[in-house]
Amino acid sequence: MISLYLGLAILLIAIVLFIIAGRQRRRAGLPGGRVVYTDTRAWGAVEKPLFDAHLGLTGRPDYLVEQNGKLIPVEVKTGRTPEAPYDAHIFQVAVYCLLVQKTYGKRPPHGIIHYPARDFAVDYTPELESALLDLLADIRRDEHRLNVERSHEDEQRCRRCGYRNACDERLA
Ligand code: SF4
Repeated sequence: MISLYLGLAILLIAIVLFIIAGRQRRRAGLPGGRVVYTDTRAWGAVEKPLFDAHLGLTGRPDYLVEQNGKLIPVEVKTGRTPEAPYDAHIFQVAVYCLLVQKTYGKRPPHGIIHYPARDFAVDYTPELESALLDLLADIRRDEHRLNVERSHEDEQRCRRCGYRNACDERLA
């Protein structure tokens, strides 16, 4: 039951991140991500979710890789490879960077988003961390609302959206 509860919490966070990420990026000027080469042989699976009780946050990156004494979270995405990482994916990897720092006491300099055709390094800057903490505060403030306001008028975006079936605000 606890794992179900945690799973639902993660899903809820993912949905809210996705919906409001566009708004947040304009506000914070998120890093766009650098194309990098990564050696997948160095990736280590993560045994159990990382958890921060103070923030009430949990999540499990797909992999962790050790680079120069630092642990770098890796998030693997399937589907179309974008020209630049999606905002929601940037925030997701930022959550993992924060959880790695809280769990292991070492701040990752960046996280990696692995798309099928290329990998991006997303720098875990103080600005990104601050935008993430603002976002988490927004989520806590809105957690009892039954719906979240759509932040755009883009039908195509809704068509491509993985949360379309559950979203009352969808345009298509
Ligand atoms: S379906 Fe459209 S409005 Fe709903 S979350 Fe997806 S992109 Fe946003």
